[in-house]
Amino acid sequence: MTRTIEDLIPDYLRGLPVYVPGKPIEEVERELKIHAVKLASNENPLGPSPMAMAAARAVLGDSNRYPDGGTRALREALAERHGVSREEIFIGLGSSELIDLAARVLLRPGLQGLTSEGTYAPFSVAIRASGAELVHIAQRDFAFDLRAMAKAITPKTGVIYLANPNNPTGSAFGREEFDEFLAAVPDDVLVVLDEAYIHYAVSMGLRDSVEAYRKRKNLLILRTFSKVYGLAGLRIGSAIGRPELLSAMNKLRTPFNTSGVAQAGALAALDDKEHVKRCIATNETERKRLSEGLAKLGFRPVPSEANFVFMVVGPDAKALGDDLLHMGVIVRPLGWMGFPEAMRISIGTTEENDKCLSAMALVILRRAGKGELAAR
Ligand code: PLP
Repeated sequence: MTRTIEDLIPDYLRGLPVYVPGKPIEEVERELKIHAVKLASNENPLGPSPMAMAAARAVLGDSNRYPDGGTRALREALAERHGVSREEIFIGLGSSELIDLAARVLLRPGLQGLTSEGTYAPFSVAIRASGAELVHIAQRDFAFDLRAMAKAITPKTGVIYLANPNNPTGSAFGREEFDEFLAAVPDDVLVVLDEAYIHYAVSMGLRDSVEAYRKRKNLLILRTFSKVYGLAGLRIGSAIGRPELLSAMNKLRTPFNTSGVAQAGALAALDDKEHVKRCIATNETERKRLSEGLAKLGFRPVPSEANFVFMVVGPDAKALGDDLLHMGVIVRPLGWMGFPEAMRISIGTTEENDKCLSAMALVILRRAGKGELAAR
């Protein structure tokens, strides 16, 4: 019997789901011939900082050269900011690459990767792609059940993935809860703490998780330039972790994983404190306004610590999302993330959120007219 290329693909990869990105705005506008707003991918509606754009533009002309494969300047800046050494900073092709590398280094068939239900899908994909067994713990009130997760640790557990705040539910755990969890995690289990949305968690008063990192050797903190820094399209993120782990991750990454343009943009974005402040403040005001507007329409959004809101809308979540899409508002029904009755709406600008609220009001009215009241 002759072997085919397909036979070489391991069984644990065959069943993996493909990541479903939010629909691109251009595609929706072209297909439906309308002007649309995209509130589907938790992007920064205020754009990148002007300083980051200028810095990125300034190095475009060097694009015939390979970038600094060791991302020295950015690692140094981040090390100084967090009070750690340069060897404890790793730069990735977005935090997505870091999620994947942690599993590739530490997991393999025979081990287990632990995460929660209802969290960022690439955690499960990274665990499964390593050949390890995926262990999913149920959530409590749309939040990580850290106590149940700690109880689920076995001698086979290699990596635990957490997102704080969580995507897609927007919930966050506080430092005390996290410290209690960490105390229950053995030293030979890595906790990956994905803080993609941490800047937005203003009301939680979260203490810097680097403090927890200093006390424990088994914590990897992930940050990204895709959210508050507004550089999702440049693809760059960072990790704080122990040099032993980072140097193993370094061997697996591609040699020039982040472009010179991305490195320059990220470095300048870090310095634009005014832009970061403005983005956080706008998000806070608009999150409150959008949440209250949705509540007036009869929905019950889960209190959010991130740049999006999550709400259960009923069994017709997908149809409701489609109706909004046809009115030029792209939101994210969450069937593919394990919540068939929920949707996530990213916080936009005032105008975008207004458009979302009026479209939602109109959809509800139309449905009521047809006797199809959205179940809420
Ligand atoms: N982690 C979480 C929890 C996210 O929600 C996202 C993106 O939405 C990412 C990581 C990916 O970020 P990046 O653009 O840095 O790959």
